[in-house]
Amino acid sequence: MKRITHRLGPASIGSERSLVSLHYGTAGSGEKAYLQASLHADELPGMLVMHHLIDLLDTAEVEGRLRGEIVLVPVANPIGLAQGLLHGRIGRFETASGENFNRGYPDYLTAITREVEARLGPDALANRTIVREAMRAHVAALEPLTELMALRKTLSSLACDADIVLDLHCDLEAILHLYCESPYWPQCEPLARLLGAETVLLAKDSGGASFDEHLSSVWWRLDERVERERGVVRPPIPLAGMAVTVELRGQADVSHALATRDARALFDFLVHRELVAAADDGAPSLPALHCRPTPLAASEDVNAPHAGVVVFAREPGDDVVAGDVIAEVIDPMSRLVTPLHAKYAGRLYARALRRYVNPNETIARIAGTTPFRTGNLLSP
Ligand SMILES: [Zn+2]
Repeated sequence: MKRITHRLGPASIGSERSLVSLHYGTAGSGEKAYLQASLHADELPGMLVMHHLIDLLDTAEVEGRLRGEIVLVPVANPIGLAQGLLHGRIGRFETASGENFNRGYPDYLTAITREVEARLGPDALANRTIVREAMRAHVAALEPLTELMALRKTLSSLACDADIVLDLHCDLEAILHLYCESPYWPQCEPLARLLGAETVLLAKDSGGASFDEHLSSVWWRLDERVERERGVVRPPIPLAGMAVTVELRGQADVSHALATRDARALFDFLVHRELVAAADDGAPSLPALHCRPTPLAASEDVNAPHAGVVVFAREPGDDVVAGDVIAEVIDPMSRLVTPLHAKYAGRLYARALRRYVNPNETIARIAGTTPFRTGNLLSP
C-alpha cells in the first residue's frame, strides 16, 4: 500500500490542510475502485468503516490477493472536519462560502465532448480509454483558487478514472440506503445485496453536480449525445463509472459492530468485482435484496407546516401507507397539535435528528414508487 499526502494549498497565511489517499494494488492490473468517507464531514460512520476496511485490505495485500487498483480516502474533507461554531460541528457546508461540500464538481462532459467525439471508434474499451484520458487531462489542468476548489479537484482526480466509486455518507436518523444513477442499477445491485440496503433511490442527473453523479453521468450522457448525433449505429460508450452514494444509516450509528459488517460487505463487493481474489472458501454469496429500487423522484419530504416539538409516530424502516401519521408537531404555547401524514405509500428511510422544527423543515423522507417530483432532486 502506498500512502500519498495531497496538500490543498494555503487557505490563509500560515494555514494549510492536506488529505491522504491510500493506494492498494497496481494501476492497470484490473478494475479500479475508489472509496471515500465523510465528504460531509459530520457524517462519521464511513470513517470507522474505512478503519476496518484498511485492515481487510492490508491482509489481502499480504496474502497476495489484490488484482486491481483500490484507492481509499478515509477522511475526504479536512476542511469541514475542522469547522465548528458555538460547540457545534458544521460539516455539510463550507462556512467561508456556504457551499455544500458534495456539490459543484467538474462538468467533464461539457469539457471533453468536442475533443473525444472525433476520436470515438467501434471498440468500446478503446473509447473508454479515450474518455478517461480526456477526463484526467481536464482535471489536471484545473487551477483551483480556493481551498474548497482544491479539495474538489483532488478528490475528483483520484476518482475520475475509476470503474467503481463509493462515496460513504450517512443521513440524520436512517436505515442503510443508496443513491445511484438508474443506468448503473444492474452493476449496483450486488452492492445493495451485500450491504443489506433497505432503500435504493435511482435517478438520472438529480442536479447539483454531486460527487457521485459528476462521474457516473459522463458515460450515459455521452452515449445519449452521440446517439442524438449519429443515431442507433454509433460508437459504443460503456457505462464505465459506476458511482454510488452509500448512506450508512444515521449520524449516531457509529459502532464497531456496524462498521465491521459494512467494511466486510464493501470488501466482498471488491471480491465480487474481482479486484480482490476470493479466499480459498470461494467468492462471497450474494444475499437476497431487502428492497426494490425506487425513483428518487418519488421520494416524499414530510414537512412541518409550523414550528414546534416533533414527536415521531413512525421509525426509519417502517413501511407506511398514504394517510399514516408520521409525526406530530406540537406548539405548547398555542396548544396547536398538528399530525403530519404521509401523502404516498412507501418506506420511511430517513428522519430528522432534532426534535424541534421551524416552518417548512423536513422531518422525514419516504421512498415512494410513483415519481411526482421534477427539477433538482437533491436536498440543499
Ligand atoms: Zn452526506
